[in-house]
Amino acid sequence: MRRHTPSTLVLSAAFALLAGCGGQDDPATSTASSPSSAISSPSPSAPDAVQSAGAQRAVEFGYEGEVGPANWASLSEDYAECADASQQSPIDLAGASTVPLPDLRFDYATGDVELTNTVHTVQGVEPSGSTMTVDGRTYTLTQFHLHEPAEHTVAGQTYAGELHLVHTDESGAVAVVGVLLQEGAADSALAEYFEQLPAGTSQEVTLAGFDTGALLPQDRRTYRYSGSLTTPPCTEGVSWFVMQQPVEVSAEQLADFRSVITENSRPVQPLGGRELLLDAD
Ligand SMILES: [Zn+2]
Repeated sequence: MRRHTPSTLVLSAAFALLAGCGGQDDPATSTASSPSSAISSPSPSAPDAVQSAGAQRAVEFGYEGEVGPANWASLSEDYAECADASQQSPIDLAGASTVPLPDLRFDYATGDVELTNTVHTVQGVEPSGSTMTVDGRTYTLTQFHLHEPAEHTVAGQTYAGELHLVHTDESGAVAVVGVLLQEGAADSALAEYFEQLPAGTSQEVTLAGFDTGALLPQDRRTYRYSGSLTTPPCTEGVSWFVMQQPVEVSAEQLADFRSVITENSRPVQPLGGRELLLDAD
């Protein structure tokens, strides 16, 4: 079912670098310790520049076979962090320490969201103006995208999907809010997203007046830990906030997603010595 040709793969890999779990704005990329992992990427809003400047250096990755997750680190020096055994994402959310933690405050605006198919996901690029604040730090929402099935597991249980809302703060730190999706009733907040999924990378769709805040569950308690982007270059230093309460999507909505994106979930990585916290209230 894969529609890949060599040229679309290279281009899509460039997009994936720019817009995966962290995106091109991901300052963690430019501040990574290894000089080889510093990637000077053009603006994500300029796909032509991506093609001319980014495609040469982007290395194809995938989810199976030689380009699959087990081999990401060997595909490019820039992907070396993917082999780190102690700071990567996703993880199995189990054995968390339940403690009172500062609340997340979401100030998400309603606006026009640009949907693009990056081959590895369909992402919605957010207009500026939506923020998330936690513990005195304010992060700006840049884009959201979906993984199917979910990447984080909960005590070994795999959910049907996982939404990632990617934020950066003014110092460039990355915070990703994960929302687990379970099969059930159709989700109305995501209805427009599922109905208008671009079938190919050249197709762009605008969701007018999209209410991103409606994507969040009512219960805002989260699992928290420090991890990485879940796509190459697997950049570390990402603050993860995974909602404890899943939201429901229908089998039809998941099937719609599968019709344009094949599996795009990285297997869970070792927790290592990291602390996994769960909000108590
Ligand atoms: Zn993601």
